[in-house]
Amino acid sequence: MAMLEFDNVEVYYGKVQALRGLSLHVDEGEIVALLGNNGAGKTTTLSTASALVKASSGHLTFNGSDISRANPWDVVSAGLIHVPEGRRIFSTLSVLENLQLGGYLVKDRSLVAARIEHVFELLPLLFERRTQQGGTLSGGEQQMLAIGRGLIAGPKMLMLDEPSMGLAPLIVNQVMDVIKEIRAQGTTVLLVEQNARAALRVTDRAYVIESGVTTVEGQAADLLNDPRIIDAYLGA
Ligand code: ATP
Repeated sequence: MAMLEFDNVEVYYGKVQALRGLSLHVDEGEIVALLGNNGAGKTTTLSTASALVKASSGHLTFNGSDISRANPWDVVSAGLIHVPEGRRIFSTLSVLENLQLGGYLVKDRSLVAARIEHVFELLPLLFERRTQQGGTLSGGEQQMLAIGRGLIAGPKMLMLDEPSMGLAPLIVNQVMDVIKEIRAQGTTVLLVEQNARAALRVTDRAYVIESGVTTVEGQAADLLNDPRIIDAYLGA
């Protein structure tokens, strides 16, 4: 069954139409990537799922519940967590404090503490740097912190917006390996990436978004050999 489903969703920013009847689904346990060029509507898709922007028509469901008119905190409480583009680390707070903020909607503080322990096991570099200010971490470390902070909310599905942005290839691979491990531990992942090659290495399935609709959908292994993808997104 689809965990997240978009059915013919339209989104406007004023007069600018960003999504033009977009449909997609992410099944439980999958890693799905959204590929596409600048301005195609990838970020808007994630922001619509997390209720930061509202669909003007169409339907969205998460775990069988209609979230088309939900509030952002309802979506977070339902377990759909968005790690935004550009990391948004609190630069003057420590790594530990940044992680604690990821649990702001979790009432049970012992649960937050247990999840932080778990994130430190998954990402030992965050444990080593737990007292360091977020703003002094490297780009890759900040991305790991943003992902770790997302995990503190206890996601059923984690949505990651361009986690590879601005990172060296070796670090991109480390981030992708962490994403694979998160799925192996039971969290479904929806990944937005301009780095199609890195994304298709770890995803099961992907969609291409162009001008607010999905134009191609397929298994990652097939897309890596699809001339449309090779020409437009994988380079020579
Ligand atoms: P990028 O990779 O550059 O972030 P994207 O695929 O994520 O691109 P979106 O950010 O979703 O694309 O943008 C989709 C369209 O909506 C673009 O034409 C963009 O200019 C427009 N848009 C996005 N945010 C706003 C906004 N706050 N106000 C007006 N237009 C917006």
